[in-house]
Amino acid sequence: MNIAVIGAGVVGVATAYALVKAGFKVSLFEKNNDVGLEASFANGAQLSYSYVAPLAEPSALKDLPKYLIYKKSPLKFNLKFNLKQWLWGLQFIKACSAAKSAQTTSELLSLSYFSRAQMHDFIEQKLSSAETDFQFRKNGKLVIYRCDTALLKAAQQVKLQQSMGSTQSVLDKAQCLAIEPSLSTISEKIVGGVYTPSEELGDCYEFSKCLLKELQSHASFSLYLNSKIVNINQENNEFKLKYQTDTANILKPQQLSFAQVVLSAGIESIEIAKQMNVSLPLYALKGYSLTVALKDNDIVPEISITDSAKKIVYARLGDTFRIAAMVDMGDATKIINPQRIAQLIEEAQEMFPTLDYANAIQWTGLRPATAQGKPIIDESPIPGLWLNVGHGALGFTLALGSGELLAELIRKKLDLSAQVSLDPEPFSYANVR
Ligand SMILES: Cc1cc2nc3c(=O)[nH]c(=O)nc-3n(C[C@H](O)[C@H](O)[C@H](O)COP(=O)(O)OP(=O)(O)OC[C@H]3O[C@@H](n4cnc5c(N)ncnc54)[C@H](O)[C@@H]3O)c2cc1C
Repeated sequence: MNIAVIGAGVVGVATAYALVKAGFKVSLFEKNNDVGLEASFANGAQLSYSYVAPLAEPSALKDLPKYLIYKKSPLKFNLKFNLKQWLWGLQFIKACSAAKSAQTTSELLSLSYFSRAQMHDFIEQKLSSAETDFQFRKNGKLVIYRCDTALLKAAQQVKLQQSMGSTQSVLDKAQCLAIEPSLSTISEKIVGGVYTPSEELGDCYEFSKCLLKELQSHASFSLYLNSKIVNINQENNEFKLKYQTDTANILKPQQLSFAQVVLSAGIESIEIAKQMNVSLPLYALKGYSLTVALKDNDIVPEISITDSAKKIVYARLGDTFRIAAMVDMGDATKIINPQRIAQLIEEAQEMFPTLDYANAIQWTGLRPATAQGKPIIDESPIPGLWLNVGHGALGFTLALGSGELLAELIRKKLDLSAQVSLDPEPFSYANVR
């Protein structure tokens, strides 16, 4: 059976990879001339298997006025007269209860641990040197806190997650500086941190290319780059995909038919699903990153660092340093806001003053987010149209597990005796809406 996958971000490529592994013929459609060029391009690089707690949690409500008013807030809610934004906002508020947030954390942990197992299998079997192929490293992660109340709250989360299988420890300031001396520049400002030695990192774009390289060694895989899906409809139990190829600036419309289609087009999935009258509860959460080339004398951490108060992640990727942050709601453009970049540089400079920020590569991306913070991995209400969307801030972390789960669900639909490794219910279309 030939299955179409629409969208070759990290989630789409991982889905195609799992489907090919499961024995299906796969055609992967991507509007750009390469994989992983949208939200998956220059993200925070975290394989954040233990830090999956959703944005929707009780303190998010308390902080909402700050996010609405304070221009330099790491989370910015730009309120608009837009029904979609208000509906998403209401769902977000509903998801902010302590019980719901704990339940979502537990469900996401099961998916992230499943993803980690898939990642380790992939590295063991397929990559000669993951470190050089996509800068993969198990480097651990330290989340630093600037006030006692925040550290105390984090300690409670550590306790909750310990009962769910995470191995994390709460450190005081001296212990933080001992494991990461490069934090000495802000030693006066931190009170402690949470350390997770098992966390990993890698370059998401390079990882997408590694998966693609592996896919291209299979005869059952076809790649359609520069091929934008412009129309999808169903006739005689088949999906007709109209796509427009853009070669040498000549737009050429073409069409192919498939019995099964997987939609994994990030935030753009909304418009494609709409053509089939399927409504997706996704909203774009815009973020920014800087990638700085390191000089010999630059002092940067080897461990990934998250500055909890400022919601900034810092990650060393080979001889570059990635700084990623911000959640801007109400701006779904890919335009870089110079004020947000200036703010990011100012905040990073406080911690790592020697870096060459003037020549940093600036980037913005749109996280395809559901209000609950969970992806949808399920068949849509239209039989044969499958969804792997809504990975929000965790798409790199969850990609391999999500791809595998979706491939298992498709296999099970065709062969009822097939096994599914993970309870899919928390990620069902009905559940995440
Ligand atoms: C600042 C920032 C930092 C982040 N940090 C992390 C992190 O540290 N760890 C982590 O796990 N996650 C992180 N994320 C989240 C992660 O990057 C996303 O969740 C993930 O990239 C989403 O992948 P995706 O494949 O769903 O979407 P995308 O990467 O956007 O891919 C969708 C693809 O579909 C294609 N497409 C769209 N429409 C069509 C069409 N009509 N026809 C054909 N193709 C189409 C697009 O061109 C694109 O290639 C971060 C995100 C941001 C913005």
